[in-house]
Amino acid sequence: MHPQYLIIGQGIAGTLLSYALWKQDRSFVVIDEPHELPKASLVAGAVINPVNVNRWTMVADHQDYIAAALETYSGMEETLGISLMEAMPMLVFHKDEAKRQLYNEKQSLFPAYIQQPADAEITLTQQLFRNKYGMGKVNPVWRIHAAQLLSAWSHFLKSKALLLQERFNIAECRLTPEGIRYKAISAEKIIFCEGAAAIHNPFFNTLPFTKNRGEALLLSVPGLPRAYIYHYGIRLVPTAEDLFWCGSNYRWQFNNLLPDQNWRRQTEATLRHWLSLPFKVVDHVVAERPTTAGQQFLTGTHPAMPSVAIFNGLGTKGFSCGPALARILCRQLTDPDQPAALTGMPLR
Ligand SMILES: Cc1cc2nc3c(=O)[nH]c(=O)nc-3n(C[C@H](O)[C@H](O)[C@H](O)COP(=O)(O)OP(=O)(O)OC[C@H]3O[C@@H](n4cnc5c(N)ncnc54)[C@H](O)[C@@H]3O)c2cc1C
Repeated sequence: MHPQYLIIGQGIAGTLLSYALWKQDRSFVVIDEPHELPKASLVAGAVINPVNVNRWTMVADHQDYIAAALETYSGMEETLGISLMEAMPMLVFHKDEAKRQLYNEKQSLFPAYIQQPADAEITLTQQLFRNKYGMGKVNPVWRIHAAQLLSAWSHFLKSKALLLQERFNIAECRLTPEGIRYKAISAEKIIFCEGAAAIHNPFFNTLPFTKNRGEALLLSVPGLPRAYIYHYGIRLVPTAEDLFWCGSNYRWQFNNLLPDQNWRRQTEATLRHWLSLPFKVVDHVVAERPTTAGQQFLTGTHPAMPSVAIFNGLGTKGFSCGPALARILCRQLTDPDQPAALTGMPLR
């Protein structure tokens, strides 16, 4: 097998990069071990939100990455023939008087996204939530149907013999004058999109990866309208399976990926305080986010090994910033005139 590019990992990073290369008619093969670790991409809320609702400010560069995300996901919808993205409002419940005042001060500054809830929305939520300090509204935010996207892209790749579902063993990968060789595959470049597993990658072992885990509950909440995302520190996001995703937390110190029962108890207590409707926990999921010190993205080619590249460090923003970054990386990989250096974090 002689593809130009060999991609390791088919979370959202590997999915978006392989889609960008496919759009450019480039030859590639993806290797993904579906059961290696829980994929962060399947545990994520997969929400694209341009507003930082803690400070009611806009997220840096939101115009660029949202435009790229909408174009990419709608292009994938067309290619795969399924719906992958849904625009909806997010209702943000203020936790105290100071938060309410901050929202009132900032609200008029960014009218394209930060809005006043309609009277009908206020009336509706007063019946469903205990809502002492009122709420603000971000509209639109976008929810990506992550499980459907990854599974449909995996089927698409398999149907074209572009996906090998097996564990990639880096000990069997050799650099050659033409690029890299792995078992029967020789490729010009290898791109590691392996998520949190990159911390063990010997090609990139000087990069400052950090460990971070996050979890979510999947809830059944009969009677809660599915046309909104609800935010109260924790977030309730309607999922395709008729459930609500509820998350999440950030833990930097851990030595396993078992569900944290304390976090679950606290989250259920918060839900009982906030939500007037009964709910049932259907599942509790955990994954490691691929993060770096300083929360920098890592995209580009190794400065000392031009046939080795990385797409990682997506942290909390894989679904939102991933499409724009995948395009940049694709340009770097395919256009010899583009700077190919690793961006985001320098190799020390
Ligand atoms: C609780 C939680 C909530 C989140 N919410 C959001 C959100 O609302 N919006 C947002 O944009 N982001 C969110 N994120 C972040 C997002 O999930 C990540 O940024 C993104 O999923 C990272 O994607 P990835 O492809 O780099 O890694 P992953 O999804 O982990 O994929 C890595 C892939 O590489 C494969 N792999 C690794 N090693 C090997 C090997 N040796 N051989 C073969 N395959 C291998 C793995 O099996 C996996 O398939 C959230 C994350 C968490 C945990």
